[in-house]
Amino acid sequence: MPDGPETYMDDSKRLTDEDTFCFSCTPEKKCFTNCCHDLNLVLMPYDIMVLKNRLGMTSGDFLKKYTSVHVGFETGLPVIMLKMEGPYLKCPFLEEGKGCAVYEARPGACRTYPLARMARRSKDMEGVEEFFYIVRESDCLGFKDCRTWTVKEWKENEGLNEYNEMNDVFGELLQAKTESGIDRLTADQIDIFYMGCYDIDSFRQHFLEGPNLERYMESPEVIELISGDEKELLKYGMRWVKKKLFLGGCLSCSAGSCST
Ligand code: SF4
Ligand code: SF4
Repeated sequence: MPDGPETYMDDSKRLTDEDTFCFSCTPEKKCFTNCCHDLNLVLMPYDIMVLKNRLGMTSGDFLKKYTSVHVGFETGLPVIMLKMEGPYLKCPFLEEGKGCAVYEARPGACRTYPLARMARRSKDMEGVEEFFYIVRESDCLGFKDCRTWTVKEWKENEGLNEYNEMNDVFGELLQAKTESGIDRLTADQIDIFYMGCYDIDSFRQHFLEGPNLERYMESPEVIELISGDEKELLKYGMRWVKKKLFLGGCLSCSAGSCST
């Protein structure tokens, strides 16, 4: 369950792959689907890609219909939130009395609960060091009559590894922003960030289908890979944003005055 009211993270103990915790979420529990209301559910780039494909929509239509955009107070970067609906602030994908209508495409945050993933990276380290905390929500009965999991089993059961892999590529981008010392982005730079990270169908059109000098400068192998595999295209999009905005890529493009 993503962040919501009366939720707190128990940071007294760090869990890694072989550590255990006890949890069970089944439709028989009295609290079933209570947690799918009134959420501050931030969607990551991969969440958006999986959901828009599950719903048979373009990323642009998905973003317009189901999300709102905020500029992060500390980061100055666009953050995508799932819009809740109706008087009870229900998740738009909750079918009352039934459960999650997009279960196989549910966002990473819904898969991760009752854990919270912390990913630490540094310049001197290859890859990411991850650990987890338990998140406790007062109305959640998942900690009663529960089953024991290792963190590794939970990640496998919830299909989390591919979400974490993609979130780590996004994390590279956020780290590059921090290291660049750039504080606020211009409106044009926010548009670049939004397209490369969140609006993957527009990025495909921009990068692969329109006249674009950057495409001609890329190797044919990379173009073939990202043309045939949307997950690779999304990784490429996030790294394209990183290069363009935070690693001194084409500055005229990042200022919005480039025609490519
Ligand atoms: S057990 Fe917790 S996560 Fe599962 S339905 Fe109940 S409130 Fe939601
Ligand atoms: S996406 Fe599914 S699991 Fe996640 S909050 Fe919405 S209904 Fe619940």
